[in-house]
Amino acid sequence: MLKKIRILILLMILLIVAVNAYRDQNQDWNKPIFVLLHPVNADGLATTQNYIQQLSVQDLEEARTYLQTSAQQYRGKPTYFYFNLGRELKELPPKVPEQASLLQTVGWSLKFRFYAWQQHQDSDPSANVTLFLNYYDPARTSQLKHSTALQKGRIGSVNLFASEKQAEQNKIVLVHELLHAFGASDKYDLATGQPIFPVGYADPKQQPLYPQAKAELMAGHLPISQSTSKMPASLKQTLLNEITAIELGWKQ
Ligand SMILES: [Zn+2]
Repeated sequence: MLKKIRILILLMILLIVAVNAYRDQNQDWNKPIFVLLHPVNADGLATTQNYIQQLSVQDLEEARTYLQTSAQQYRGKPTYFYFNLGRELKELPPKVPEQASLLQTVGWSLKFRFYAWQQHQDSDPSANVTLFLNYYDPARTSQLKHSTALQKGRIGSVNLFASEKQAEQNKIVLVHELLHAFGASDKYDLATGQPIFPVGYADPKQQPLYPQAKAELMAGHLPISQSTSKMPASLKQTLLNEITAIELGWKQ
């Protein structure tokens, strides 16, 4: 009996994966993009709860404009983005394994897709991409674990601070993860966190090269010398370079 149930669950997961793979064919950027956001109180604190309660899509207006302006710049025609705040979820997405083997990563990605599918039952079916926003009170959590998004399934698990002070950083992380879900790749050295030259530079031809005026969003950091970099202060201090635009399908 137990074995049959396990096989049934496995078959269900495979079916979900197949349906998602079918759905995920390249994004048609001429159509509007609906982004569904589900906040999660990740540390269970009352302070985090208060922060989640006052969230509004209005807070993401700058991120929306950033995406629309960048798409317009590369495509030469508009793409419209819309953020929707979905209901708050009580269950956390499965934790991303650290230093994981390939098998653990595959296992996690299946679990995450199953989780997303479960949460999706009563959510907006027209959403092109769903991000689970896991909020932590910075008074208790000083460093956030790495966020992740899957292109297959168009879902992301995004760790953010439940704090007004971190609003700018939160927006950077959110848009970075959102673009992962559409195929943009990381452009920093995984070992050092340093942007990779030239693909992780906003302007690899800048003279002098350092400090760079802006950060490439998928590199995450702004290079100030060959071996040092800093967090950009806000989305305004970032851009998407041509390589990212090609990965997204915004440019040939
Ligand atoms: Zn990333």
